[in-house]
Amino acid sequence: MTHGSPSLHRLAPAKVNLALHVVGQRADGYHLLESLVAFTRFGDRVSLMPAEATSLSATGPFASEVPLDSSNLILRAHDLLASAFPSQKLEPVLLSLEKNLPIASGIGGGSSDAAAASILLARHWGLQLTESDLAPLLLPLGADVPMCVAARPLIARGTGEELEYVRLPRLPMVLVNPGVPLATPPVFRALQKKDNAPLPPLSAFITTADVIGWLSETRNDLEAPAASLVPAINDVLAELRSESAGIARMSGSGATCFGIFLSDEEAERAATTIAERHPSWFVAATSTLASDEIVP
Ligand code: ATP
Repeated sequence: MTHGSPSLHRLAPAKVNLALHVVGQRADGYHLLESLVAFTRFGDRVSLMPAEATSLSATGPFASEVPLDSSNLILRAHDLLASAFPSQKLEPVLLSLEKNLPIASGIGGGSSDAAAASILLARHWGLQLTESDLAPLLLPLGADVPMCVAARPLIARGTGEELEYVRLPRLPMVLVNPGVPLATPPVFRALQKKDNAPLPPLSAFITTADVIGWLSETRNDLEAPAASLVPAINDVLAELRSESAGIARMSGSGATCFGIFLSDEEAERAATTIAERHPSWFVAATSTLASDEIVP
């Protein structure tokens, strides 16, 4: 172990698709999306320490479900960055992942881990990369990885790589997953209508109620196809609605759903009630990072 270099840490926030419209499909099969996305202060935690050899370890509630071999998106990000800087001497590192986000659950855990690890590696290795250099470099790891670099509220368009940052306030939120992993491809296969209406024009978002008002004119087009595969998604949404969420919707391709509440207290109360009723579900009260907040 090399001494003297401090370890680096970064939150890998959950990515929440507040709205997700499927607006078309390219000839190569890729779906065209329009999505308003925010990131929560609840997430995984990635750490990096200098070491004799590069390795990855995981702790946390979902550690046993995540692969630790070269298929892990953190190691894939490491290898991608290393291959982008072949002439640089890049020290080996010990990477640690605190896995708090459920796997294959529509809140971008792996994508966010890859983005967080890349930021730490670029800093540790002294690579002169800004966020806007790093984001496109990481696209080969997945369409959702670039947006996780800045982890600020945004609208993603195209296949997810065209990013427009938008102003959003902090939103009190509850995340709920019924404990059923759901891979993305079968959800898109179950989606019948691919040319849905685009997102309505954005309005000025000052309060949580402004955001809820706009969201009520929007959808997640993957919610019905996902619920046809995992009916428990409908139970989760019903629970969030019965706890008076201002909006209750599925994120990404599911199965995690979110509720937006008017206050942190309401969100915490709802989370406690739902967790008591459904001890096997994953439930977390959190809030989104506002546009002007920096990822801790
Ligand atoms: P998205 O919202 O982008 O669809 P997701 O939440 O559905 O993401 P992930 O949790 O990122 O999906 O997992 C997708 C797959 O990636 C899983 O099958 C998992 O085995 C693999 N994977 C690789 N690295 C990671 C990681 N660091 N964390 C979670 N899953 C990972």
